[in-house]
Amino acid sequence: MAENIEQKRGHAIALFSGGLDSALAILLILKQNIEVTALTFMTHFGCDIGDRSSCGSNPYPTAEKFGFNVKLMHLGQKFIDIVENPKFGRGSNMNVCIDCRILMLNEAKNLMDMIGADFLITGEVVGQRPFSQQKDKMNLVMRETGLKNKLVRPLSARILPPTEPELTGLIDREQLEGISGRSRKRQIELAAEFGLDDYPSPAGGCLLTDEGYSNRLRDLLANTGYLSFDDLNLLRVGRHFRLDRATKVVVGRNETENNQIEGLKRDGHCLLEAPDVGSPLTLLIGDATEENIRKAAMITARYTSARNETSVRVVSRQVSDGTETEVSVEPARDQDLEPIAIR
Ligand code: SF4
Repeated sequence: MAENIEQKRGHAIALFSGGLDSALAILLILKQNIEVTALTFMTHFGCDIGDRSSCGSNPYPTAEKFGFNVKLMHLGQKFIDIVENPKFGRGSNMNVCIDCRILMLNEAKNLMDMIGADFLITGEVVGQRPFSQQKDKMNLVMRETGLKNKLVRPLSARILPPTEPELTGLIDREQLEGISGRSRKRQIELAAEFGLDDYPSPAGGCLLTDEGYSNRLRDLLANTGYLSFDDLNLLRVGRHFRLDRATKVVVGRNETENNQIEGLKRDGHCLLEAPDVGSPLTLLIGDATEENIRKAAMITARYTSARNETSVRVVSRQVSDGTETEVSVEPARDQDLEPIAIR
């Protein structure tokens, strides 16, 4: 193994989502006898190997098959900071793709400097994505990261200015690709050439590209101004209703979500449930005034099996001390929920 590494002509750090493009970028560089260390990032917004609904996928099978290392890195609070205050704006939803790319490349650059690697690679393709991968956006990212010409995009390299490792002859530009646009034809050909047969179909992006999630996140930021881990976890669960600036109601949609809500309750919250009927578990977050408890009970009653009754008994429990109060309410009507639902 050590002997193998000694024979390598250089060392690249790759941004690796586990998807086809980033895998091909790595394979094009490995083919030139360059060692590759791949970085797979995780965030609180689902773009990680633990969440198959996101833009991430498991990087290990490809790494094992083709012989490169993978390092997992959680971006934690650094990513939350850019979601709260993106320097370069948002995409069509709450996605902060430019700031995200800059953050990921800066982290990769730090690793490159730390271990003395020669250059960075990404699977970006010119003109493939509407926002983050346009040529001018690529230039902006380059300027902001100070990477200058140490960033190689092997899939589009031949239609981009030569980079340092190409100019010094560390890698052969002619063996890289000149792909642009949204067609995946060339990538699929390349995958077949490399024997890369197990790759995920392109995904839409992280949770920040999801409209419903983005609406809940926008509401949270507008009302609190910051994002706590607990709040972020709750954004993934249930139906959300805004009662006032300080107060929200989250209603479980099924048993799994009811269990998640149970796990996310904190001191200061109230849990509501209608006994004796099929009932969701509801979390009241914020001001547990008599009026808000009543509203939360009406919302809860709307999603019980007794939603067509004129009166439903709902029990509210303070999480901090277990104090229970009981109210009988008429289930909320859909037209009453419309203005307060966050969808
Ligand atoms: S969709 Fe945009 S913000 Fe989300 S992980 Fe991908 S590049 Fe980053």
